Amino acid sequence: MSNPEKHVHTAVCPFCGQVTQIELETAEPSDQSLEAAAVKACECGEAVLLRRKQAKIADAKDCITEKFKSGVPSCVAELLAPALKYLFDGAIDEISIKINPEFTGKVAFTGDNFTIERKDVLKTREEI
Ligand SMILES: [Zn+2]
Repeated sequence: MSNPEKHVHTAVCPFCGQVTQIELETAEPSDQSLEAAAVKACECGEAVLLRRKQAKIADAKDCITEKFKSGVPSCVAELLAPALKYLFDGAIDEISIKINPEFTGKVAFTGDNFTIERKDVLKTREEI
């Protein structure tokens, strides 16, 4: 059994500037991965909010993938998923895709939760 070698790096939170020592398996991480690690480690308000946003969006994306994986063209999930960040940020209130009078896929953000709706023969709705 071998443990991957760890390398200690200095990472700076892009929001508050706090400097953190982090261990990564790579000796030469990208600026992006250092920044992501700093955000993951930092407890400032912006870092906490960004982590919450990323977790919410990931959960909602999983729900969209699951909800629209069968019975509709794959473009429904492919179009709805990228809209999640704009919904979370408040740039848009709601996005819906209508394929025919019988099918509508809709995603909205209420300020706390995403609402993901599929109106088909059967209507289902989740709050995450
Ligand atoms: Zn911070």
